[in-house]
Amino acid sequence: MEPAREELLMALAGNPNAGKTTLFNHLTGARQHVGNYPGVTVEKKEGHCEVGGRPVRVVDLPGTYSLTAYSVEELVARDFVVNERPDVVIDIVDASNLERNLYLTCQFLELGVPLVIALNMIDVAGKRGIEIDTDRLSNLLGVPVVPIIARSGQGVERLMETAVSVAAAGKPSPALLRYGPDLDEVLAAMVPLIREKSLLTDTYPARWTGLKILENDEQILEKSRQADSELTARLLAMTETVTRHLQNTVEAYPEAVIADHRYGFVKSILRQGVVKQKYDTERLYASDRIDRVVTHRLLGPLIMAAILFCLYTFTFSYSSFLVDWLAGLFAVLADSVDAALPDGPLKSMLISGVIDGVGGVLGFVPIIMFMFFGIAVLEDSGYLARVAFMMDRIFHFFGLHGSSVMPFIVSGGIAGGCAVPGVMATRTLRSPKERMATLLTVPFMNCGAKLPVLTLIIGAFFSSHQARYMFLATVAAWLVALLAAKLLRSTVLRGESTPFVMELPPYRVPTIRGLLIHTWERTWQYIKKAGTVILGISILLWAMMTYPGLPDQERNRYDALRSQAMTAGDSLRVQEIDALQAEAALRHSIAGRIGRSLEPVSRLAGFDWRTNIALVGGFAAKEVIVSTLGTAYSLGEGSTGEESSLTRRLQKDPHWNPVVALAALCFIMFYAPCSVTIVCIAREAGSWKWAFFSMGFNTLFAFLLAAVIYQAGTLLGLG
Ligand code: GDP
Ligand code: MG
Repeated sequence: MEPAREELLMALAGNPNAGKTTLFNHLTGARQHVGNYPGVTVEKKEGHCEVGGRPVRVVDLPGTYSLTAYSVEELVARDFVVNERPDVVIDIVDASNLERNLYLTCQFLELGVPLVIALNMIDVAGKRGIEIDTDRLSNLLGVPVVPIIARSGQGVERLMETAVSVAAAGKPSPALLRYGPDLDEVLAAMVPLIREKSLLTDTYPARWTGLKILENDEQILEKSRQADSELTARLLAMTETVTRHLQNTVEAYPEAVIADHRYGFVKSILRQGVVKQKYDTERLYASDRIDRVVTHRLLGPLIMAAILFCLYTFTFSYSSFLVDWLAGLFAVLADSVDAALPDGPLKSMLISGVIDGVGGVLGFVPIIMFMFFGIAVLEDSGYLARVAFMMDRIFHFFGLHGSSVMPFIVSGGIAGGCAVPGVMATRTLRSPKERMATLLTVPFMNCGAKLPVLTLIIGAFFSSHQARYMFLATVAAWLVALLAAKLLRSTVLRGESTPFVMELPPYRVPTIRGLLIHTWERTWQYIKKAGTVILGISILLWAMMTYPGLPDQERNRYDALRSQAMTAGDSLRVQEIDALQAEAALRHSIAGRIGRSLEPVSRLAGFDWRTNIALVGGFAAKEVIVSTLGTAYSLGEGSTGEESSLTRRLQKDPHWNPVVALAALCFIMFYAPCSVTIVCIAREAGSWKWAFFSMGFNTLFAFLLAAVIYQAGTLLGLG
């Protein structure tokens, strides 16, 4: 035994970046100096501190992953530990990277040095959801483990106290790791020989020397030869035999087998409940395996299409019972108002303005709820990031981002969505310009409200190719949206495209609670934001289509005609008179006047005043178009087979023909988004400027397109 040293020698060891220097600085403050290890250019930092009144000399060793002889740093670190015999070695381990860091730890254990593990960066590990059972780790490794945050100094005091008691306990016996039957057998044979001749035993444990010879460690072989060349030759011969055997059986050198077993040792420790399930590795590996299939170049898009199809079915089929139920509820409400109030403007406003308007907004709610629920599932599970990842290449070309894909699909990219949740779904985009470009182009998709209009017109004029035209409408929507995005991104929204930096998070099973919260938050936002405004717009639209009513003189004329027909018992004639009066009233109303005053311009695209009213009504909500066309073309509401009769009306009307129909189709697909969408665009973009831009830009574009189609078609004599 040496005489008890006044000063304690403490070495800080660990992987590069584990936090050695941070801890060193924390311990020694200004009392440090930097030099080089003798003979090499590796920096040697030394400093002093005190623990419980006892002076301590601290040495910051070079960072290493292993203790082989492959690099100068590794040699310096192990020579220091072996030759200078520090009273205690503090092995600084990065808690967020435990598996890799413990590889070095088990080599210290085999060297039999007095060891304390400083489990550093527990703050980082915590943030990554990694929780470590330090007591269990300590038990399994057989050394004290102290969690610390070197940066803040948290836990360092306890670490020092532990280090001092470990130093007092003296040198422990070296740990005995297993290296498989072949190597264990040869080691078992080597150890007695080494002990017998005391080969390097005052510096290294016998088993460690044997291992190093098996690993073909230059430095140890050299020392060993100098000490006892005869024994060394014998040990090398044993090594050669086992190497040949390993080559024949597992095609690996002893070094590789030894490394594998060290990792195995670390893994087996980590598996035993040391790392709480929150640990990422397992799930990350599972995620990687899933991703190999899910983002596969060929399989990936197919799986994506299938999943999106399911999302669609889920949203639009399963929500329909709620949609119907709500529609029924509002019909009952309208009926009871109808029964309770006397005829007049108040009743008319309550039914056509308030109830229809609020009903229109709330009618979206089930769809939005289901859609957001489905999206929340895709998002929370991590799949949405994969969809974005796969689509990024295509979208990038048009100045958009992979994350743009969801808003487009939600808005009706496969036909039948809604631009309102689509606009809200752009929130996942981080770049403001890409987000704006997405926001402004999603209304081009064929939302669920446009579908009945498209169906009506296609059914009336292109019924022999219905499916083909619907498909073309979807393709056209995408084409126009992407080209418009490209246009916007090279003009008003010019700027760099952001690379796809969104990382692919590991898959996880979403929690029901999380899904419901996500769904409700978004749905409520919609109700709150859209609900208040649409009520106003709805009342305004009602007023425009109602006022000013027919002059008394006119009304009296219709009344007289009606009573005539009634006395004659001709109920068909009564219906016809009702319809004629409705048309006349509409023509006379503000909306009618707007429709007529727009006629000189709209004629360029082939639209007459009645079509204009319907299209103006479509500004409020696209579903208004069909019902307004019905009213404008002298059809009382509620008559059965409404659409088919409207179909016949349009076919017979002199103003309509296939060319007009095609122009109208394009106009309806691409003109201003509905008022609810406009409100959402304004909210999401943070200013009404973009909402108005969208109204103007889309309408102008749609009109030019419609006019070109109408003029060209008429010129070619197709009308
Ligand atoms: P060395 O290579 O082992 O000397 O590591 P350093 O001491 O240079 O630390 C590497 C990096 O980790 C530095 O940026 C430190 O600020 C940081 N770091 C060290 N300890 C902690 C810790 O406990 N928590 C956090 N968050 N960062 C740490
Ligand atoms: Mg350092």
